[in-house]
Amino acid sequence: MHIRFAKWFFRTAFALLTRLEVRNLENIPKEGPYILAPNHMSRADTPLLFIYFGGKNVTGWVANKYRRNLFFGLLVQLGNPIFIRRGEVDRQAIDAAANALRAGKIFGLAPEGTRSRVGSLNRGKTGIAYLADLAKAPIFPAAITGTDTLFHNLLRLRRPNITVTFGELFHLPPLDPEDRSASLRRNTDEVMCRIAAMLPEEWEKKLIDMNVTELTDEDIKWADYVFISAMQVQSDSAKEVIARCNRHRRKIVAGGPLFTTSYDDFDGVNHFVLDEAENTLAPFLADLTKDCAKPIYRSTEKPDISTTPTPLWSLINMDDYHSMNIQYSRGCPFDCEFCDVVLLYGHKPRTKSTEQLIAELEVLYQNGWRGQVFIVDDNFTGNKKKIKAEILPAIIEWSQTKGFPFVFMVELTIDFAED
Ligand code: SF4
Repeated sequence: MHIRFAKWFFRTAFALLTRLEVRNLENIPKEGPYILAPNHMSRADTPLLFIYFGGKNVTGWVANKYRRNLFFGLLVQLGNPIFIRRGEVDRQAIDAAANALRAGKIFGLAPEGTRSRVGSLNRGKTGIAYLADLAKAPIFPAAITGTDTLFHNLLRLRRPNITVTFGELFHLPPLDPEDRSASLRRNTDEVMCRIAAMLPEEWEKKLIDMNVTELTDEDIKWADYVFISAMQVQSDSAKEVIARCNRHRRKIVAGGPLFTTSYDDFDGVNHFVLDEAENTLAPFLADLTKDCAKPIYRSTEKPDISTTPTPLWSLINMDDYHSMNIQYSRGCPFDCEFCDVVLLYGHKPRTKSTEQLIAELEVLYQNGWRGQVFIVDDNFTGNKKKIKAEILPAIIEWSQTKGFPFVFMVELTIDFAED
């Protein structure tokens, strides 16, 4: 009874609060055993999938820490969880999962292991291939989009678009006893490819940072759209790039500080996407896909940056740089006459969450970076209280666990010396 109520509750909530589109519902196998393998971007993924799979015959690993979580604790209890000790090989939990599959159950397992915070798929962990081989169970892939911005949109009273696409049941090839680790990796990549194939096609992107790389005519001709961003001192260079793109008849989209403060000075640009991209880029891209993009996109609203995605570091060659840049906050409470920061970002400092900042450091670390990290905020100590109480202790703790891989550099106001 409580499972039926929970399904009804989540179905109603998603129907009322989101624009939910479900594809290939008819592909869901009537019964187990199989491993349900979705991508994972948000805590909302679990209640969403519960609508279609919740039942006594379904189980999954749940981190021990959720036993005491009020909401998720209750939810996972509905799903007959197998609690697992994260970060170690929990043999008991693995055997329990294999036994559940052998008994004909459905086992939910996101191959990425944790939520992706980069807006794209993380590399899958080989646990899924290991379990599939151990229990001789097939895989049923599912691709979810839109849940990563669900809570952000709901807080702004917007109904986000969410899609769930179900694939087809398939079996992984047997593991090669001669090289189990290579075949585990191959099988895991196969699962991730099946999920990726159901996600919307991403735009192909290339980033040319003219500080370290020459922009060639071939680069310009490769692109359907050239996005240009620049600072004030790069004005002449930006004009040259616009002229070159015009010569090659490539469409230009311009944004960033230079164009936000003086877009009138630039001819030959097809679309200006001004102010902060969190507000203006999404409407521009939505119009572009409908072939009705406007010449200028502006917003006076100062966006919450606590949901800004992590940069796609894969677009640059880190060897070209002495320092990696990350941003923690925008806005400054001061008003220096020579500075345009307040004009661009306002007086009230807006900050990322501690979790988000640490996740960005972790992504840099996982991408192999060691050395200097410049936190590029115009005034790192705009919100002194949060810096002292949360951010610096979290950075220190993270650095200690990693053996101090980064040296940090910031800009701040001298009043910090009062502390
Ligand atoms: S303190 Fe720095 S960021 Fe703030 S207004 Fe002055 S120069 Fe600009």
